[in-house]
Amino acid sequence: MDIHSELEFPLCEKHKINRVQFIKININEQDNVFKCAQCILDNNQTYDYLYINTVLNSQDDYIFKNWPPVNNQELINELIELVEDEKDPIRIIENEFNDFCNEIMQKIEQKKKVVLQCAQKLQIEKEEFQNIYKKLSEKENLKQILKQKVDFEQMNTDLKKFFFKCYDEKKQTDLSLLFLIQRIKQYKNIPKAFEIQQIKSQFFEQLDKLDETILNCNFFRERVDQIQQELNLIITNKTWMENYNIEQQINQLSENLRIYSDNSKFNFLNIKDNKNDQFSNTNQIRLLKEKEQFGNYFNSRMIKVNYDINQDIISIYKCKEIQYGYVYFNYEMKRNKKYIVRVRFNDQGGQYIIFGLINQNNMDTTIFKTKQGKSFCDYDTEYGGKVVQGSYFNEMSKGIIIEMRVDIEKRQIQFENNYKQINELQPKYLLDAQQIYYLTFHFGQLKKQQPFETLIDIIYFEEVDHF
Ligand SMILES: [Zn+2]
Repeated sequence: MDIHSELEFPLCEKHKINRVQFIKININEQDNVFKCAQCILDNNQTYDYLYINTVLNSQDDYIFKNWPPVNNQELINELIELVEDEKDPIRIIENEFNDFCNEIMQKIEQKKKVVLQCAQKLQIEKEEFQNIYKKLSEKENLKQILKQKVDFEQMNTDLKKFFFKCYDEKKQTDLSLLFLIQRIKQYKNIPKAFEIQQIKSQFFEQLDKLDETILNCNFFRERVDQIQQELNLIITNKTWMENYNIEQQINQLSENLRIYSDNSKFNFLNIKDNKNDQFSNTNQIRLLKEKEQFGNYFNSRMIKVNYDINQDIISIYKCKEIQYGYVYFNYEMKRNKKYIVRVRFNDQGGQYIIFGLINQNNMDTTIFKTKQGKSFCDYDTEYGGKVVQGSYFNEMSKGIIIEMRVDIEKRQIQFENNYKQINELQPKYLLDAQQIYYLTFHFGQLKKQQPFETLIDIIYFEEVDHF
C-alpha cells in the first residue's frame, strides 16, 4: 500500500476518526466525494465507490467493475470475462492444424499399410507365375518324351498320345488360363480400385471450403474498421455537434453493432453447412448449370449468367441499361423436397433485387405480381416479406450471404443471413403446395433511382429430404 498517497487525504467529514480511502462516483450536488471505510459499510452501495489506493496504484490492465459509468453494466462484466479467458485463438488454431496434420499422416500411413497388405495378398510372384504356367503347359512332360533314348517310332506314339491327352483337356486348360488371367488383372487393378486420387481431390475440395470462412473473416475485419472510424468521428466531433445529431448517430451505430455484439447471433464463423458431414461435398450447384431462361419481360435477355466451374459459382450480372428483367433456372423444385440456396452480394445491389420462386403454370406472371420472394435493398413490406427475427435486411453490401430455405410442402420460403435475421413470405403470398417451382432473380429500378449495375453469385444449391 502506498502510504504516502493515503496520507494526503483528509479525515472523513462524517466519521472524523477515519481517514478518507474512497471516492464516491455516483454523487449529487450536496455530496462530498471523499468517503471513509465506515461510510461504505453504512451505505452498502459498493458500486458507487472507487478505492483510491487501487486508482493510484493499479496497473494499466486493471479493469474497474464500476468505472467508467455505463448504461449497461453487463458490458463491463462481459469485457472482464473475455479478458480473463486466456485461451488464445491463434494458439488453438495452430494446435488444431497441427493435430489435424499429425492425425491425417497417421491415418494415411495406417491405410497405406492395410492397402499394401491387401495388394500383397493378391500379388503373383514371377516364380509362382512360371510354376503355374509350367504345370499348365506340361512343358516338362514334352521335354521328357523328346529326351527319351528310344526309337523315333516310340517317340512318335508317345507324342501323339500326349497331344491327344492335351487336346482332350483343352477346356480345363482354358479355365485355368482364365483363372490365371483374372488373378493378374485383379492385381493390376488394385491401384485403381482404391481411388486414392479421387479421395485426394475430394479432401482438397473440403479444405478449400475454408475459403468461404476466410472471406467472411476479412469482411468482418473491414466492417470493424468502418465502425471504429464512425465511432471515432462521433467521439471527436461531439464538442461541436448538436446533441440531437450525436444521439441519432449513436443509435445508428448501435444498430450496426447490435448485429455483431451478441455472441449468440454472431455466428458468421459457423455457417450452417452440414456440420456433421464436413467431408462430403453437398453443393449441387451443377444442377442449375446452363438452365437459365429469360422471359420477354423488358430487358430480361440482357441479363448475363456465368457458370464458374472451378469455383462452383453461378454469377448473375445486371448492367446499367437493364431497367427491369428476370432470369429463372429451369430446374424443377419439387414439393417432396426441400432446397437450400445461398446467394452472395458483391456490392450494394442497387435498390431492387428480388429472389424467389416462379410457378410452372405462371411463368409469364412476374414475381412483382405473385410476391413469392423477398426484395432486398428496397424497404418494402409487400415485396420484403415478413420479419420473423431481427429486421428487414434492406441494406446490402459486398460479402453478405443470404440463405434461402425453400419448403414447397409447407408453402414457405425463409431468408436468413449469418446474423440470424430471418424473413419469410407474407401469409397472403404463400406458395401453392401443388405446384412445381423454379428459382428466379428479378431486377428493377425505383422511379427516382440512378441506373445501377450489380453482380450476385449463387454459391450454393442443395436439394434435401429434410432440413
Ligand atoms: Zn466516513
